[in-house]
Amino acid sequence: MSATKDYGRLFNFSAGPAVMPVSVLERMRDELLCLPGVGSSILEISHRSKAFDAILDRTIDDLKQLLGIPAGYSVLFLQGGSRLQFSMVPMNLLRDSGRTAQYVITGTWGKSALVEAVKEGKTEVLWDGKGGNYSQLPRWSDVKVSPEAAYLHVTSNETIQGIQFHDDPTGVAAPVVSDMSSDFLSRPVDVSQYGLIYACAQKNAGPAGVTVVIIRDDLLARGAESMPGYLLYRNHAEGKSCYNTPPTFAIYAMGLIVRWLLDDIGGLGKMAEANRSKAALLYDAIDRFPAFYQGHAEKSVRSMMNVTFRLPNEELEGAFLSEAKKAGCTDLKGHRSVGGIRASIYNAMPREGVETLASLMTSFAERHG
Ligand SMILES: *Cc1c(COP(=O)(O)O)cnc(C)c1O
Repeated sequence: MSATKDYGRLFNFSAGPAVMPVSVLERMRDELLCLPGVGSSILEISHRSKAFDAILDRTIDDLKQLLGIPAGYSVLFLQGGSRLQFSMVPMNLLRDSGRTAQYVITGTWGKSALVEAVKEGKTEVLWDGKGGNYSQLPRWSDVKVSPEAAYLHVTSNETIQGIQFHDDPTGVAAPVVSDMSSDFLSRPVDVSQYGLIYACAQKNAGPAGVTVVIIRDDLLARGAESMPGYLLYRNHAEGKSCYNTPPTFAIYAMGLIVRWLLDDIGGLGKMAEANRSKAALLYDAIDRFPAFYQGHAEKSVRSMMNVTFRLPNEELEGAFLSEAKKAGCTDLKGHRSVGGIRASIYNAMPREGVETLASLMTSFAERHG
């Protein structure tokens, strides 16, 4: 029997907070009462203790190794989720700069990021997928970024629509800021192409409560001293994420996820391969029944993390969801803003869960198509 079933765990397709690796949960359980060699729980120790400092250092080093983060970047662990980054990015990089921040609007999250930037300075939308109901993405070569821009903001994976850029923007003269919340650590990324990457942990990198920011060091100089201290990136960089009390447990948990990716999975290349292969199971089911399943994303930009599709009507969608539940597949209802079905199949979703869902899709379409 698989470890997944041993604890009565279901196949949880939640978009976030989302499934975590069983081996990581087991380790957290085993260490919760007492961290080996420390004599206290991770929940009980000071963020200024030697023990936590070692966890912080190791998590940063491991993240640098896993992502291949080059010299000249800082890794920060913040709170406030990616939502706060929608504001912190323009507060630090745009406010009072006299420059324009350029945005690529690819879906719900990109739109929400722009709403906050408009409050901080001049913005310009270089591309907006609204006309295609956010089912398409531009090619990077078609996005004409001004070298004078304060930055270019993009969303690497639109969690709600289920569309994903499959390559990094290259050679952009302005700093590229990417919201990688829902595909962070799902595949290799060329960090050197970015000025700033941010990702809340609860989609693919840990529990809720911590947001990672990877920032190129020259950008730390931007941001006015008059801003609230917590909101200035450089305060967090100077204090090694201990400007104030950081979310110690969530950082520890993310550290275990990063180790799992390095040791058990064998790195992000391997992880990306497994993710592509899992996603293909669902997209193949959609493509085999084109009259029954309607995928939201244009094929070339399908997300490897969030698979979104509709059935012929809402009644069938309801029946599908209840059959899925009986098969142990939960949290498949699409976001209220788009409806339909959304299967979030992050790193830790077992292949067996995706196979179960794919075979239900086949049998359901055969019976109702
Ligand atoms: C979930 C998500 C957010 C919002 O994250 P919070 O931690 O809830 O603030 C932003 N962007 C993307 C792409 C997301 O998936």
